[in-house]
Order: sequence, then C-alpha cells, then structure tokens
Amino acid sequence: MNTVTSKLRATFLELIKLGEVYPHEDAVISYCLKRLQKEGVAVQQDSYGNIVATVTGAGEPILLSTHLDIPEPNSDLSYLEEETIIRSDGKSILGADPMTGLAVLLEFMDAIRSHNTRHRPVEVLLTRGEETGLLGAVHADYSLLTATQAIVLDENGPITKLVRRAPSYVRFDATLQGKTGHPRLPEAGVNALQAVVVALANLPWGYACDGVTWNIGKMEAGTARNSIPGNVSFQAELRGFDSEQVIREAKRLEREITQHAEAVPGVRCTIDHEFEFEGYAISQDDPFMAAVTGALKEMGLQPDVYETFGGSDASVFNARGITALAMGAGYYNAHHYDEYADLADMATIVDFLHLVVGAEKPEGS
Ligand SMILES: [Zn+2]
Repeated sequence: MNTVTSKLRATFLELIKLGEVYPHEDAVISYCLKRLQKEGVAVQQDSYGNIVATVTGAGEPILLSTHLDIPEPNSDLSYLEEETIIRSDGKSILGADPMTGLAVLLEFMDAIRSHNTRHRPVEVLLTRGEETGLLGAVHADYSLLTATQAIVLDENGPITKLVRRAPSYVRFDATLQGKTGHPRLPEAGVNALQAVVVALANLPWGYACDGVTWNIGKMEAGTARNSIPGNVSFQAELRGFDSEQVIREAKRLEREITQHAEAVPGVRCTIDHEFEFEGYAISQDDPFMAAVTGALKEMGLQPDVYETFGGSDASVFNARGITALAMGAGYYNAHHYDEYADLADMATIVDFLHLVVGAEKPEGS
C-alpha cells in the first residue's frame, strides 16, 4: 500500500466511526474542521453548519463537494478488510457513502496545501443533511462561493462514473384525519388507517405514469391495538426528467388520494407536495464535461457517462447555475448492508483531482 492509499485508509476508518445521520453530524464536522485547519486551509461553517473551505490559486475556481451525513445510524459498525477493500460485516451500512469522498477531499486538500503547487482556486463545500433531502445544499450560503464548475463525489462506483442527467423531484406528504376512539364502540371513531388503505388501493405501483416514479416510503398510524387510529400520515415522492410532467402527476395523485380518502365518511385528507429540485442535463459538449472526460482519458480511464433517477447535491448546484458533475466516489452498494469502499479507487480519485485542478502531484506519492 503506497503512502496516499495508507493515508486514505487511516482517514476513512476514522470517518466511518464518526458517521451519523442528520442532524447529528457534529463529530464528523469537528473532525473535518480540525483536519482542514491543521492543513492550513481557510475554513468556516455557514449559517446552516455546512463546511466551506478555500485554497487560493490562479485561473477559474472549481468547487469540490460531498456530504457529511450517513443515511441511517450504524453505531455498532464493524468492518472487514481484504487488500484495498473495506467492507461492512453485513449487519449495518458501512457509511462509505459519503466517507470515501470526504476522505479523498481531506487528503487532496492536504496535498495541494502542503506542496504549494500552482493550481486553480479550490472551494470545498461539505453539506449536512444530504440524505434527508439535500438540505445542506439547499440552505448553503452561496455568497461564500464563486466557482461555476463543481465536482460532487457522491455516486456509486469508480471516478469514471459520471452523471449527465438527473431528475426533478417532488416531495409528497399526506395526512388523513379520522377520529380516535375505543374499538368497543366503532361508531364513535373513524379509522384513518383503514381509510388510507382504501385511498391507496388503486394507485399505480412504482410509476405514477411512464417516465415518473412514485414511492410511498414511510407511514405512521395508530397508537395501540385497542385504539381506533384517528390519524395517519405518510411520506412519498415522485421523480422524472420532465418537470412539468412530475408536477402534473403529483397533482393528479393528490386529487385521487383525496377523493378516495374523503369518500370514507368522517375522513379529512390534507396533502402537501413541493417541487424540491429541478432536474438537469449536461451536454457532452459542455466545456467542463469535456475537460473532465478528457482528464479521465488522459489517465487511461474510460468515462462511463450515464443518466440516473437518483438525486444528489449536484441537482441543487446545477439549479443554481453551477455546472456540477456528480461522479463516482469509490463506494459500492451504498445504503445496503454489503456496502464497501475501495481504497484503490479513492487513490485514483485523488490523482484525478490533481489533474482537473491543475496541481502537480507531490513527489513520492
Ligand atoms: Zn451520498
């Protein structure tokens, strides 16, 4: 294992032990702040708690980003190592998403700071609450940033994975209000849980229509077996490349659910849907896309440019006019209990960043 790889390994192992879900990213935040300060990087937190770091340089600034939170708690984390692979033991997520990207960015910032090479100005934004709904990216203080080109290290796979198109996204929250009561006297209550089953029974599965996905991800209802549930709420979402079509389908589902729910006497249905972020498409001819794919080819790597129905902070950045490329961060099977990280991929990403940022690689790495 060379120097860079063993440094990445040490940082990554420290980070995965600190991983927490939003809004509890404190330990990871203080670790990153301390590291960046020690590396002599100008670093601060914006009002949302995101980390913003900058290193001066010459030419056009570039933004490098990933997030600070993991999707679910993994406090009993244990891992296995096999050559360059670090793998969850199968009982929890590893937290490689986002810690591979974080480790890479911390090592890269250290390398460009301590070796005083010529390069583009580098801005780093590490966001909170990405998994909860891109919260940190949405609430970031963009007055602290000047870059109009960004690389977001937050895709499954090696650095050659490169998103050219991502969907628009609508958050869809519903509440059905019935009446709580004791089941010995059913007439006195209105069972909101049974009403929601009726309301959802005829809805499409997985797709609202061709091109728009639809998912009910979470539902809360009831307090006890021997109580008529007076309230049900659920969280759902829609995704699609065509913004207008996604909004149209959200409105249609709102109408259908309300109509079927309120057909049950005594039930009131309240639905709140919000267009959370706009989809984007980056052309192959875009100068930044061309530069990035060119850098990969220069390294002897074949870019794998694809479209995805997944969202990332890149969606928010693109909507704000920053050309943001979401790229593979060297983690695999993200959010699954067989999640793993590949240190060899992470070392390749460090090399790639040196090339894109225009920094000479330090001697002996
Ligand atoms: Zn992620």
